Amino acid sequence: MLVDMVRCHEADPEGYRCVLVPQHEGPHKWGRCLATDAEGYRCILPPSHPGGHELAWFARPTDIGDTHTMRYAGRYERASDQARKDMDMLATHQWFPVSRDYVPSALGARLRPLAFLFAGKLVVVYEYRPRT
Ligand SMILES: [Zn+2]
Ligand SMILES: [Zn+2]
Repeated sequence: MLVDMVRCHEADPEGYRCVLVPQHEGPHKWGRCLATDAEGYRCILPPSHPGGHELAWFARPTDIGDTHTMRYAGRYERASDQARKDMDMLATHQWFPVSRDYVPSALGARLRPLAFLFAGKLVVVYEYRPRT
């Protein structure tokens, strides 16, 4: 993605991206694009980012008990690393994981000795549970 090449990769605890260039000196600077879609989803990217908006489904108020499914493709370690980062970030928005399944690809299952080479899919379901 183009944005990843020109911006620092760090995001604050709410998932908003640093607006500075990669490997910048000093502290990160958080900012956010002001765009929203028709339903009020906020964009989580920095102001005046290139490319399309990335809308923040998790930042929008929703009904208690609503669920959202996230899918991570790739080897288990990498997929679960990414999922763990998202879990921390989503927890600040009151979304918590209620189920977590790793499904190895069909190819990986057939060639069992080489299964670790093949991508599977980690599926995490989040539920909106605001503290009352
Ligand atoms: Zn930064
Ligand atoms: Zn945007």
